[in-house]
Amino acid sequence: MKNRIVAGKTIAQWTKEFPIIEDLMSTKEVFWTNPKYSSFEEAIKKVALNECHVKDAEERLLRFAPFIAKLFPETVKLNGLIESPIVKISNMKNELSKMFNQKLPGQMLLKCDSHLAIAGSIKARGGIYEVLKHTEDLALEHGLITVNDDYSKLTDEKYRKFFNQFTIQVGSTGNLGLSIGIMSAKIGYKVVVHMSSDAKQWKKNLLRSKGVTVIEYAFDYSKAVEEGRKISDADPMSYFVDDENSTNLFLGYAVAASRLKKQLDEMNIVVDKEHPLFVYLPCGVGGGPGGVTFGLKLIFKDDVHCFFAEPTHSPCMLLGMLTNKHDEVSVQDFGIDNITAADGLAVGKPSGFVGKTLENLLSGVYTVQDDKLYMLLSTMADSENIYLEPSALAGVPGIVNLFKNEPATEYLKKHNLSDKMNNATHIAWATGGSLVPKDVMDEYYNKGVYLRNC
Ligand SMILES: *Cc1c(COP(=O)(O)O)cnc(C)c1O
Repeated sequence: MKNRIVAGKTIAQWTKEFPIIEDLMSTKEVFWTNPKYSSFEEAIKKVALNECHVKDAEERLLRFAPFIAKLFPETVKLNGLIESPIVKISNMKNELSKMFNQKLPGQMLLKCDSHLAIAGSIKARGGIYEVLKHTEDLALEHGLITVNDDYSKLTDEKYRKFFNQFTIQVGSTGNLGLSIGIMSAKIGYKVVVHMSSDAKQWKKNLLRSKGVTVIEYAFDYSKAVEEGRKISDADPMSYFVDDENSTNLFLGYAVAASRLKKQLDEMNIVVDKEHPLFVYLPCGVGGGPGGVTFGLKLIFKDDVHCFFAEPTHSPCMLLGMLTNKHDEVSVQDFGIDNITAADGLAVGKPSGFVGKTLENLLSGVYTVQDDKLYMLLSTMADSENIYLEPSALAGVPGIVNLFKNEPATEYLKKHNLSDKMNNATHIAWATGGSLVPKDVMDEYYNKGVYLRNC
């Protein structure tokens, strides 16, 4: 193992250069702060995307709002916007304090993307946005609409027939497939979802019930993407949603930030130099948490600190950023198995596009054990009556980690935050869960209760 060559160096050389890799290889929990994190002003100079791109995505979603409201009546109350609530979780914070024997100053909120309409996960942001973007491109190109039209007319049968000539394909661990599949099928497209081996049976069943073709692979996510891309590229009428490299997905996720800002304003929650904001985001390939982080940095700049959370068995973004080799390395290269209960985060190789874009904007990454995710799942259910899938709990211990780890303490000191923590707001991004069938959720819950009692 030590002599295996990974991206030009032996593993022995890598671990000598970055000792934390030893801990990653033995699947210990770690907390890593990004040595390249820099001021917003400096960091943003190196990024090709900017607030105009996010604004453009935001406006596109507004154009589609009447269309969404017509296709999905559950979105009518938000006028066709797909947006999630944010809630204070003081009970859960008390439970965390007890569980980990740790004082936790500041207030804690949960951003409930678990309860986003249509797809029940954060993928309802990026995935649906990209399908809509493609739909608008096709409709404009074929003269079906102008940008000033009421897009709800695209729900007419003649347009459904038009879209049915085209295919949309995607590789997924489950939730992206649900989001793209449900949306595309509803618009009228033919849809093919390439599922990795970790994808849950109920997700495949749900998609098939909507007329989506599901192709299963015995391999992990990266392979499902690779195969899907190949098959789609061979068909000129097919469009592939590329989770590893898509700017559209990324921008769809980024729109979350301005909407969050509005919610915080409504709750009278101030974010400024004296009132820092900490956000903890579960990370798979990186697009979801990356897009949200990018959007948040554009708005709150140096006053927001974003950390990614990965399973101890799938720390792909951490390895990619740490080694600066991004998508040239996988967790499997380092002998880590990429097997985790957090199926939404079961990704062995990160998005190079996201890792590079966030190179100077991301504050850090920590890892979480599966057992802890289950324990947090049942505790969240008992204390707040909120039911999440295991992946979605990964952001929840972030607040604890920030006070319990030496690198985190140093980070707070370095950025003059130590004396401001009583004024801080912590947001755990709950990325999925509301579509999980009851029997599956009961199993998760019982496992959490069992683990807490033993
Ligand atoms: C996909 C997903 C994530 C992470 O998003 P990536 O874009 O893969 O990093 C987190 N949580 C859940 C529940 C997901 O489905």
